[in-house]
Amino acid sequence: MPIPLRQTIRVGAYVVAQHIKGVQRYPLVLMLEPLFRCNLACAGCGKIDYPDAILNRRMTPQECWDAADECGAPMVAIPGGEPLIHKDIGEIVRGLVARKKFVSLCTNALLLEKKLHLFEPSPYLFFSVHLDGLKEHHDKAVSQEGVFDRAVSAIKAAKAKGFAVNVNATIFDGHSAEDIAKFLDFTTELGVGVSMSPGYAYERAPDQEHFLNRTKTKKLFRDVFARGKGKKWNFMHSGLFLDFLAGNQSYECTPWGMPARNIFGWQKPCYLLGEGYAKTFKELMETTEWDSYGTGKYEKCANCMAHCGYEPTAANAAFRNPLKALQVALRGVRTTGPLAPEIDLGNQRPAQYIFSEQVQKKLSEIRRDEALAAQQKASTAA
Ligand code: SF4
Ligand code: SF4
Repeated sequence: MPIPLRQTIRVGAYVVAQHIKGVQRYPLVLMLEPLFRCNLACAGCGKIDYPDAILNRRMTPQECWDAADECGAPMVAIPGGEPLIHKDIGEIVRGLVARKKFVSLCTNALLLEKKLHLFEPSPYLFFSVHLDGLKEHHDKAVSQEGVFDRAVSAIKAAKAKGFAVNVNATIFDGHSAEDIAKFLDFTTELGVGVSMSPGYAYERAPDQEHFLNRTKTKKLFRDVFARGKGKKWNFMHSGLFLDFLAGNQSYECTPWGMPARNIFGWQKPCYLLGEGYAKTFKELMETTEWDSYGTGKYEKCANCMAHCGYEPTAANAAFRNPLKALQVALRGVRTTGPLAPEIDLGNQRPAQYIFSEQVQKKLSEIRRDEALAAQQKASTAA
C-alpha cells in the first residue's frame, strides 16, 4: 500500500519519537480548513452550510503556519471549502512545504488547471482530488454535470507538470461494490493513488438518506476488496485501516490524531464533529473530554468509520503490533469469515445540537471586529 518512502520514514520516526517521549495523545495530520467557501454544493457535504459572513472569512497564511507549528504533526491536509478559492493558497502551501510538512491539498479540481502555476512540484506536496466515483456517479454526488471530466483533465495536467496527485473518494449508501471496483480500476489506469472513506453522517448535509451505517460499510468494503484480489489498486491507507473497513478489527477512534483548525479555532473533538472550539492546540488537547466521544459513547459517533478518526488508530496498532500489519500487507484484507465484535451502542449519550449557537457566537465576533476596524479607520482619518 504505497505511501511514498520518504513520508513513511519521516512519519514513522515521528511516531517512534512520541512513544519514546511517552506522549499518549499526539497528532498525525493537521486538518487545516483555511475557509469554508466552496464552488460546489455537494449533497453529502456538511462543511459549507454557513451564513455568508462566515463563508467570507479566511485564515491568513500566518495563522495557517502557526497552526502547523503549534500542533507539530508531520502531515497537513488542507480541505475546506475549496482551498483553491483562497487567494493566498500558493503562499500558504509554500510556507508549509518550507517547514517540511507533507501537504495534501484537497480540491474538487474545478480551479486546479488555472491555478497550477501557484505551486511547484515537491516531494512534500500532493494534490488530493475529490472524485467519488466514475462520471455519472461523481457528477450526481457533486450535484453538477461535467465536474468529473474537468477533474480528470486537471489530474492529467497536474501529473504532466510533475505534481504528485491522488484522489479521495467518499463512499455513500447506494454506491454498488461493482461500480466502486470499476472506479478503482479507472484510478489505476489514471496512475493515481486513492484514499477512500465512508461518509460521516453530517447532521447538516442536504442529503441525509445515503449515509452508510457500520454494518453496511463493512459488507460493502468486503465486497469491494474481494473484487480487487490480484489487482494493483493503489490505496493511500495503512493495511490495518482497510482491514478495519472490512470489519476485521474492533477499533476505537483516535479523534486527536487528525485535529482540525479552522476560522472558529481548534475544533472539538475532531474534524467531523464541531462541539466547541479551543483557542490553542494545547487547550484543545487539555480541555477536550476525549472519553465522551467515539462509537458507543456518543450518539453522533454511532456510525462513524471515517478515515480521519480511525487511520490514526490503525497506525498506532501497526506500531504496537507490526507482525499483524505485515500479515495484512502480505495476505491482503480478509473478505470472508466472522466479523470482529461490534461496539455496543446501549450506553451512548444522546446527541447535543449546538451548531446554531456556535454560528451566532462567531457572527457576533465578526460584527464586533468589523465595528472595531471601522472605529479605528475613522479615528485614523480624523
Ligand atoms: S467539493 Fe468538498 S467542500 Fe465543496 S461542497 Fe463538495 S464536499 Fe463540500
Ligand atoms: S467516532 Fe471519533 S472520529 Fe468519528 S465523529 Fe466521533 S469522535 Fe469523531
